[in-house]
Amino acid sequence: MTTLEYDRAYIWHPYASLNNPPPVREVASASGVNLTLANGKTLIDAVSSWWCVAHGHNHPAIVEAIRRQSEKLCHVMFGGFTHEPAVELAQKLAAIAPAGLNRVFFADSGSISVEVACKMAVQYHVALGHPERNRIVALKGGYHGDTSLCMAISDPDGMHTLFKGIMTQQFFAEKPSCGFGSDWDPTDIASLTKVLEEHDGEIAAVICEPVFQAANAMNFYNPAYLAEMRALCDAHGVLLIFDEIAAGFYRTGPLWAHQWTNRLCSDATGMSRPLCPDETGVGCLCPDIMTVGKALTGGHITLAATLASEKVAETISNGRPSAFMHGPTYMANPLACAAACASLDLFAQTDYAANVAKIEHAFAAGLLPLKGLPNVTDVRVLGAAAVIEVERLPARHDIERVIDKHGVWLRPFGNFIYAMPPLISNGETIAKITMALADLALSKPGPAPTDGDFHE
Ligand code: PLP
Repeated sequence: MTTLEYDRAYIWHPYASLNNPPPVREVASASGVNLTLANGKTLIDAVSSWWCVAHGHNHPAIVEAIRRQSEKLCHVMFGGFTHEPAVELAQKLAAIAPAGLNRVFFADSGSISVEVACKMAVQYHVALGHPERNRIVALKGGYHGDTSLCMAISDPDGMHTLFKGIMTQQFFAEKPSCGFGSDWDPTDIASLTKVLEEHDGEIAAVICEPVFQAANAMNFYNPAYLAEMRALCDAHGVLLIFDEIAAGFYRTGPLWAHQWTNRLCSDATGMSRPLCPDETGVGCLCPDIMTVGKALTGGHITLAATLASEKVAETISNGRPSAFMHGPTYMANPLACAAACASLDLFAQTDYAANVAKIEHAFAAGLLPLKGLPNVTDVRVLGAAAVIEVERLPARHDIERVIDKHGVWLRPFGNFIYAMPPLISNGETIAKITMALADLALSKPGPAPTDGDFHE
C-alpha cells in the first residue's frame, strides 16, 4: 500500500468520513508560504494551515529554537517542575497581553484553553460563594473548539448538533449583525442584554471571538459591540472572556482583535458607553480572561494559553479549593514554549500591522468587485482575512481543479470561500490567492451540500 492508500483506508481526517473520504494530498515539506507535495508540486498555503502559520512554514528561527531546546529538555511534567522556556514565555505574553492579564495557564490546544477559561470563570464564582453562577453565555455564529464544553458554547445550530445529548445547556445571544465598518446600531446588543437580564445570577462568564467570528460564521462585527458587552458584564457581575485564538496576532489588523475598540470614540459612534480614547494603550478595553493559540507558536507545534487577571487568579486562589483544578499531561511542553518564545520575538521584530494592511488592501481591490455577481452573496475583507460568501460552493472536483490550476491551497466550507494567508505573504502571493478565490467563486455552483461540506 502506498502512503496515500493506507491513509485513505485507515486514518480519519478532520470532519471526514472513512468510507468516502475527500481527497488528501501528501505533503513532503514546507517553507515560507509554500507546501511541497510528495509529487513535487507546490501549493501556496492560503489558509495558513488553519490560520496558525503566521511567519511562514518552517521559519528558521522557530525551527532552531525547537532544535536547541530538544537538546536540553523535550518534556517534563509541569506538576512539581518548571523550566526556563515556560517562564520566559509567560513573561513575554504578559508584556503584550491586555493590561493586567499576567496570570498564565498553558494548555495543549485552543479547545483546552477555552475549557480552562470557562472553568476559571466558574471556579471564580465558587470562590466568591456563588456556585449557582455556573453557566456561560456565548454568541450564535461562534466557534470555540470541538471538546464538549467548547461544543456547548459554539453555535447551537452549527456543526455540533449531533452531540447535543452530551452537552450541558448554556445560553446564547443572537449573532452580532452590525457589521465592521458600519455605524454602530445600539439594538445589536439587545439580545445579549436580554439573556443577561433573564439569567441574572446563573451566569459565570460571557465568551466571544472579538470582532471576527471565524470558523462558524466568518462574520466581522462592529467593535462597539465589545464595549457594550464589557459594560453589561460589569453591571451583572459576570466575567468577560475573549477568545483571541483565531483573530489574535494581527489577523484582523491590530495585535489583538479587541484592540479595534481603542480606535472608537463614543461621540463618533453614538454609543451609550464611553470608549477608551487612548490610542497608545495596549488593549485598554480588557477582558478578565483571554485565550490565545494557533499563531502563538507560529504554527510549528501545538500550544495555547489562558491568560487571567489578578482579580480572577487571586479570587480562585483564595477560595476552596485554592488549587485551580486542571492539569494536562503536556502542559507547558518545553519544545512548544521555546517555539512560542521564538514566535513572539518574530512578532515583536516584524511590522506585521503594516503587511496586514497591504494584504487587506490587495484583497479588497481584487475581491470586493465580485459583490453582486451570480452566486456571490457577499464579500468581506478585514486584515489578512478575505471571505466570499456564496449561495452554493462549487462541486468538489471543481474545487480540486481550481487548487491545482492556481497552485493555491483553499479549504472552503459551508457557504464560504475564504483565505487567511501567512502574514508574511507578499503582493505576488496575494495576487495568486486572489485569482484562485475569484476563480472558485465564479465556478459553477455544485450540488446541495452534504454532511462534511459544512465543516471547516
Ligand atoms: N477558538 C477559536 C476562536 C478557534 O477558531 C478555534 C479553532 O479553530 C479554537 C478555539 C479551537 O482551537 P484548537 O483547534 O487548537 O483546539
